[in-house]
Amino acid sequence: MAYKNRMDLHTHTDNSFDGHHSIMYMCEKACEKGIKAIAFTDHIEVDCYYEEHYDKVTVQAYFEMAKARSAFDGKIIVCAGMEMGEASYNPEVAEKILNDHKYDIILGSIHNLRGEDDFCFLDYFNNDVDEILNEYFDEICGLANWGKFDSLAHLTYPLRYIEGEARIHVDLSKYSSKIDEALRTLAEKDRALEINTSGLFNKIGKTLPEENIVRRFRELGGKLVTVGSDSHYADYIGRGIETGMDIAKRSGFDSIALFSGREPIEIPIE
Ligand SMILES: [Zn+2]
Ligand SMILES: [Zn+2]
Repeated sequence: MAYKNRMDLHTHTDNSFDGHHSIMYMCEKACEKGIKAIAFTDHIEVDCYYEEHYDKVTVQAYFEMAKARSAFDGKIIVCAGMEMGEASYNPEVAEKILNDHKYDIILGSIHNLRGEDDFCFLDYFNNDVDEILNEYFDEICGLANWGKFDSLAHLTYPLRYIEGEARIHVDLSKYSSKIDEALRTLAEKDRALEINTSGLFNKIGKTLPEENIVRRFRELGGKLVTVGSDSHYADYIGRGIETGMDIAKRSGFDSIALFSGREPIEIPIE
């Protein structure tokens, strides 16, 4: 079904090491696609913030977002955001970053276990997948407890590589008590759960997290969901957003959250 209120609250520009296009070009493309709001959420990895020079990137990205917001005023809502990875591994640095600029939306994510490489680089044939996932969900609970973000990004991220790439089947019910704990914490803190649609176009072929986790979040009292494509290319902005909105609706949500000045605004699913 075609929705008019399409928003993409998870995108990467060339201010991310793995992004490809400028903010201005991405705004232009998003307007062409009829998207109502776009959040730029370039990567900030808290566990290597200074070592990898993310401190310089944040300043650059923030001012480019402010420029785009005024250039596209009246055409598209531009949200200044960031995807903050591993905030709970160094809350002191995370909180400093949050105080440096006035953001609209902060995505919280976990891309790696402490001291380890990104889940995309792990060898799942020679490591214990169960152990990795137990540790991942523990870290997700820790991040949810820290809670100073607005939406939890791509919950179940390691499955993109374990199921999608290594083709190892995972029975998520084994981790349901940890997943429930994280979802309950998000609900209690009025934080949003992101429906990340990038997985629909990867080998895994489903959203991160998948629909039954979104439904479980609702059952546990979750009120806010965001939808994001996690696009790293201008052409992919908005990909899968309508499927994400369908999933939210089927899971019992009647709105998708937009964020302004880190306050949620509920936009009806229509
Ligand atoms: Zn991410
Ligand atoms: Zn991302």
